[in-house]
Amino acid sequence: MTKPVILWLGNDLRTTNNAAFNAAAAAGEVICLYFLDDATPGDWKIGGASRWWLHRSLEQLSRQVKLVLRRGRSDAVLADVMRETGAQAVYFTRNYAPWSSALERRVKEACDRAGAACHRYGGYLLHEPEAIRNGAGEPYKVYTPFSRACFAAPEPKLPPSAKLLPWKGELKSDTLDQWNLLPKNPNWAATFEPEWQPGEAGARVALNRFMEDGLANYAEGRDRPDQPFTSRLSPHLHWGEISPAQCWVAIRSAAAQAGGATDASAEKFLKEILWRDFSYHILNHWPTLPTAPFRPEFGAFPWRSDDAAFNRWKRGETGYPIVDAGLRQLWATGTMHNRVRMVAASFLTKHLLISWTEGAKWFWDTLVDADIASNSASWQWVAGCGADAAPYFRIFNPVLQGEKF
Ligand code: FAD
Repeated sequence: MTKPVILWLGNDLRTTNNAAFNAAAAAGEVICLYFLDDATPGDWKIGGASRWWLHRSLEQLSRQVKLVLRRGRSDAVLADVMRETGAQAVYFTRNYAPWSSALERRVKEACDRAGAACHRYGGYLLHEPEAIRNGAGEPYKVYTPFSRACFAAPEPKLPPSAKLLPWKGELKSDTLDQWNLLPKNPNWAATFEPEWQPGEAGARVALNRFMEDGLANYAEGRDRPDQPFTSRLSPHLHWGEISPAQCWVAIRSAAAQAGGATDASAEKFLKEILWRDFSYHILNHWPTLPTAPFRPEFGAFPWRSDDAAFNRWKRGETGYPIVDAGLRQLWATGTMHNRVRMVAASFLTKHLLISWTEGAKWFWDTLVDADIASNSASWQWVAGCGADAAPYFRIFNPVLQGEKF
């Protein structure tokens, strides 16, 4: 039997424009592996709402490729599969979470021990965090010059798509249901189902809808939580069901076709995609971002501990309509509009004086787009302790914000 190659899938749950997928496809018969690894991320194992998304996304992907599902520490399970199959190489997309570099090192060691090659690819971001440096050769701490440097860099290109030949051997796999990713008794995710279409096809639908109905109004309308002008692509981007390069190229081409009519909106949207890259840029260079303030002087901030107030915030019972609407929307749908995330986070950290780390943990469990870089960076931004953050004295007025937006 031919020795297979392994495609180790992570946050790149797509079959198109995926460099690791293409390279594996070109190398031989492929085993597509996904591991549910609750051990490696420590406190940051995938949260409840994201587990619902993951189930639905893997369900979709398994209609396109034969997936092998295993549970356990990724490097240990990968070593098992290499032993069971005699695989000659492992291909994967790079991840930037604080635990990823140690994990990727252990994976490389496991490959060395098994005599298999180990190939890592980019594609989760537009620009690798090391590729964008300021004049002194250091990472950026401020978004605007970072985004300027990105705009000046070569435009992102899409790797072509490839067809994959599955390995003909037999390998045992868990079933998705065995992982219990979907909530039961109560099924609080029932209200998520009509809101979202997880998976690669759903990501395409979201992008196309945005180009048809949202883009033209994005620059003006993106701050209006009552209007459907944002893309709702964040969970798809988080899970890699679509790449930021695919979004970038599509928006550039839509703007070119509109002959200048949507230029301001397109530019604004590309800048938002670059906020995602910036969050990863910061996380990659300051891996304590999820737990420690980027500005160390905030380490001594006297946050309050008030369970009753925190619970009222979580349930959307603060009495401030825009804050409460956001937190109830989060519970019912797994998302919250960006403007309302800012107002709700400001309310928690600046009115209730409860630490941003508490709010970030709640979002981690309840958002379908919960993302270690964007969530940590955004909470720190609102709290005033992050890179390029809103200053501590900038407090979103929840009444005026409700009236204005
Ligand atoms: P669009 O307006 O259509 O933007 C397009 C894309 O750009 C988004 O899909 C997203 O990938 C990226 N983007 C937009 N704004 C930001 C931003 N401020 N930072 C980083 N990337 C951005 N976003 C997450 O993806 N995951 C999180 O866990 C997360 N937590 C947040 C917590 C707080 C307190 C705040 C204030 C913001 C958070 N955001 C997070 C950023 C932002 O709110 C969401 O990305 C956005 O609301 C997603 O909706 P959309 O896809 O319609 O965005």
